[in-house]
Amino acid sequence: MMFIEENCERCGSCLSKCPYLDVSEEKAKEEIIKMIETRTASEFLDDCLECAYCNTICPTKSNPRELIREITIKAIREKGLLGLNLMSDQIPLNRATISLGFESETKQKNLKDYLHPPKSEKMFFLGCSLSYRHTDLVNSKILDEFPKIGGLKYCCGGYVKNFGTEEVILKGKALLEEFELFGVSEFIIICPGCTRMMKDVYSNLIPEFQEKIKVKTFSQYLIEKYHNDELTFTNKIRKRITFHDPCAWRSLDSEVFDAPRELLEILGVELVEMKHKRKKTLCCGSSCMYSKHERFKEVSEMRISEAEEVEAELIAVSCTGCLALAKPSRNKNIETYHLLELAQIAIGEKPPHRTIEISEKLNDLVNKTINENPYLIKDKYLIKDGKIHRVQVD
Ligand code: SF4
Ligand code: SF4
Ligand code: SF4
Repeated sequence: MMFIEENCERCGSCLSKCPYLDVSEEKAKEEIIKMIETRTASEFLDDCLECAYCNTICPTKSNPRELIREITIKAIREKGLLGLNLMSDQIPLNRATISLGFESETKQKNLKDYLHPPKSEKMFFLGCSLSYRHTDLVNSKILDEFPKIGGLKYCCGGYVKNFGTEEVILKGKALLEEFELFGVSEFIIICPGCTRMMKDVYSNLIPEFQEKIKVKTFSQYLIEKYHNDELTFTNKIRKRITFHDPCAWRSLDSEVFDAPRELLEILGVELVEMKHKRKKTLCCGSSCMYSKHERFKEVSEMRISEAEEVEAELIAVSCTGCLALAKPSRNKNIETYHLLELAQIAIGEKPPHRTIEISEKLNDLVNKTINENPYLIKDKYLIKDGKIHRVQVD
């Protein structure tokens, strides 16, 4: 997806109607012209959550989020990206590997399996968060049919988008080569970010990727199993639940949005919809959860207030990032559960539901590691021709 400059009418609506920026119509018109002409942005864009809601506002479908991305890429190519945010096995300490300091033994044991899965035409694709952070979620009978692939070596490569299209193509081709060694032709993906990378980004940029790799979300997989009488949900969940769509799905087809809703109905749920849903979903705020506490509070409360309006007892999410809603929603007497947990309860399992506890422990661990290694919030890296280089700092 690219910014379509020739379609843009310079109306500024993408900025003035953004739910998260405070920009007048007049200022927005001036700003968008400046952004297009100079590929730079003013400070107010520091508050941008990169949620892509503006793509759904734009009357000419010009993809303004991609203009913002171009500007960010330009800055990152000059200054580099913090190693903490680079989910690569070439960076010894990043948010994923730091997480290994908590429940290390079990995680290391599972990672051995995820990094060396047996050959299989179909696999569950875990991504980083489910391999390193919210690892409880995949510990279930419902994800036993095929091998699981995960760990940093098989990260979807979402971070490479910060370095431009050529780097994304190189990463996608490198992953495809690895996947071919396993003989895999279909992934059942848990993480919405990974779904977007495979179903949208790589498939659109690399024709062989689209030909060789089919992708299904875990909701689509569970629905199929249910309709084929291979899975029974006996413990119906009789609760009033709303589904929070992740920003990462915004560019995907409607069937991806239908699946979690159908799954929830199969589980026995009374489904209620928030005002902003599907492609027009609002952000959960996870991108500023650790760096800007007040901002996170505002953004998450904006989302949770919509769940309160429809009197939901519970918010269901499909993204571990969106589990950021768990603590602020509990403060409003609404629990936040991952859809996988709800499916596990419905087959009679007892998932530990440790979302808040795990997030807090990992947050403490990241802060402690940064205090002990202050270079972690200084050292930056660039990716060029598929290779990672540390930026020299004075
Ligand atoms: S990406 Fe989100 S926060 Fe940023 S301008 Fe667009 S709508 Fe606003
Ligand atoms: S990208 Fe769309 S909303 Fe933004 S200024 Fe251009 S036409 Fe208007
Ligand atoms: S989208 Fe998934 S695999 Fe990709 S960086 Fe995020 S957690 Fe890792």
